[in-house]
Amino acid sequence: MHPDLDRLVRAQEIDRVLTGTRGRLERLAPRRKAADDGVASARLALEQAEAHAKAVALARRTAEKDVETLGEQERKFQTQLTQVKKNEEYTALLHEIEAAKQKRSERETAVLETMDEEGRAAAAIAAAKAALAAAEKLAASEQSTIAAEESVVRAEEQALAARRDAVLADLPPALRARYDRLLGAKRGVAVAVLEKDACAACGSHLPPQKAIAVRRGEGVVECPDCGRILVPVTVPSTP
Ligand SMILES: [Zn+2]
Repeated sequence: MHPDLDRLVRAQEIDRVLTGTRGRLERLAPRRKAADDGVASARLALEQAEAHAKAVALARRTAEKDVETLGEQERKFQTQLTQVKKNEEYTALLHEIEAAKQKRSERETAVLETMDEEGRAAAAIAAAKAALAAAEKLAASEQSTIAAEESVVRAEEQALAARRDAVLADLPPALRARYDRLLGAKRGVAVAVLEKDACAACGSHLPPQKAIAVRRGEGVVECPDCGRILVPVTVPSTP
């Protein structure tokens, strides 16, 4: 086989591996994001738990204030009770006192209920804090695993890129440009083997004369259909 064809075959093999390597690097980004998302959602849950606790504390203070105000009102009515002269005024005041008492009792119940709720809210905050700490720890470990993986894959990528450059350096510039162009246009497959007189990449059959030329391997023959560079089926030398 012509040395240029041999170089193209080796370059194609390196590029095939390189595509896989770059794919592995690209798949690291979503994993990074997933690790960060876990922390973000745990942080949001903590913020929500804190906001809820704040609202409950405010509701308790409001209920306590209501109890105080209603108590004052009651005492005021009690004082008035000793001052009224008319019977109907007396009865009306007794009703007012009773109503205030009733309302105060309701608000006292509300104070007790919100106190219970405050206890639950505090427990929820503690649980959310623990969950956040666990999520942060998990994310840190995942990020360092990803970083370690990335440095390995980057080193592989660099080594492959160096080998690729070395192989392609010996090609005539026009052929190298053609190879690179085909690689970009044909989804990473610029070189295809000839199988039973057909292009293994697109399946198109070659006219006998062209097939013979490919089998001889004396020069660059392209597939008349897909334009890829065709090579005979031979075991290429080690890339
Ligand atoms: Zn083809």
